[in-house]
Amino acid sequence: MIESKTITEIKASAGDNPYFVALKCRECGKRYPKVAIHICEDDFGPLECAYDYDAIANRLTREEIALRPKSMWRYRELLPIDGPPTVGLQVGYTPLVRADNLARVLGVDEIYIKNDAVNYPTLSFKDRVVAVALSRAREMGFETVACASTGNLANSVAANSAAAGMKSFVFIPYDLERSKVLNSLVYGTRLVGIRGPYDQVNRLCSEIAGKYGWGFVNVNLRPYYAEGSKTMGFEIAEQLGWRVPQHTVIPMASGSLLTKIHKAYTELQRIGLVADSRFSVYGAQASGCAPIAQAWKSRSEIINFVREPRTIAKSLAIGTPADGYYAVGSMRVTGGAAEDCSDEEIVEAIRLLAETEGIFAETAGGVTLACTKKLIESGSIPRHQSIVVCITGNGLKTVEAITDRLPSPDVINPSLKDFDALLASS
Ligand SMILES: *Cc1c(COP(=O)(O)O)cnc(C)c1O
Ligand SMILES: [Zn+2]
Repeated sequence: MIESKTITEIKASAGDNPYFVALKCRECGKRYPKVAIHICEDDFGPLECAYDYDAIANRLTREEIALRPKSMWRYRELLPIDGPPTVGLQVGYTPLVRADNLARVLGVDEIYIKNDAVNYPTLSFKDRVVAVALSRAREMGFETVACASTGNLANSVAANSAAAGMKSFVFIPYDLERSKVLNSLVYGTRLVGIRGPYDQVNRLCSEIAGKYGWGFVNVNLRPYYAEGSKTMGFEIAEQLGWRVPQHTVIPMASGSLLTKIHKAYTELQRIGLVADSRFSVYGAQASGCAPIAQAWKSRSEIINFVREPRTIAKSLAIGTPADGYYAVGSMRVTGGAAEDCSDEEIVEAIRLLAETEGIFAETAGGVTLACTKKLIESGSIPRHQSIVVCITGNGLKTVEAITDRLPSPDVINPSLKDFDALLASS
């Protein structure tokens, strides 16, 4: 990768974190220095962050973590930055809600909502990955950061870079939801809409990253960015009283979040913060763009790309999922499964979660809950074991998905008689 090399040479990493030791190829295991590269030069395998788990196990205890501020940075030994975090200090530690009303409807014993619909500051789980990527970008000396996004990442890069005083460019498919566009523009970022689906946005961004030497959070900074997702898994385990749930259902776009929740649970077991126990991870996609779920269902190693995604779950509409292959692997080794659902089922699930638990999720949340329901009904997820549903984004950002699906409010004159009549008629 010629473009990454250039960046590598300019941006030497500052300081040192003894627990985060190297970048490592997922395919061949070759180690690389902790710089702005993301692909192995031998086999084009993705690079990921490697840690010294023995040193972390000797250092980190439940008690120590309990004393730290309630943010994603309480697990900082397991995150890939060298110095203290400088961007997104308040991100994470979102509620884990025991959802007993929902449990009654679904006919299960123990189900929880991990609610990143209220993650700070931009109301999606993407604030976690951006906090890590921008903190790392700063350590490497990048002044301009950028991303290819299906919406939520754009919002988060725009907001967090504004707060950090960094310049930003965000690239999105031009036809995203109005609110996703607005929620980027307001921060004064340079927003560029691309006429084409996400995959073409992403390809263009690889070219731009090479030419302009910016820190693209999900291109040349991807190994760092992706690690931020682990904190959702760390928090789930801690909030359950240091216990890994038996079943975790996770929405998939590129498939990264799913692989990182798997990695998070595995790391907690490895360093002894939770007891070893069996757990399964399940992936959820919308049928209109379900390349990973389709591969799973056809028992294939090969992900058939989706050229023209057609779903209201735009945040998940990635037709060429970069981590799809590894997501299938995570589901297989943990005994999980993948499921997909229709737009109709997405809308029903958004309403079900709102009406039972008072939580308004975006379309991706509808996907996750609809697929959870199907996995329970098909017997893939047993009814008497612990289940966590990962809600990753806020319903206020995708209102067009349900606008036409809700009843209109009653309108009356300011008169008690009119109200009496209204009550009597309903
Ligand atoms: C980005 C995103 C995901 C998952 O993305 P991955 O690429 O699979 O890590 C899930 N939900 C929402 C709302 C998102 O914006
Ligand atoms: Zn390799």
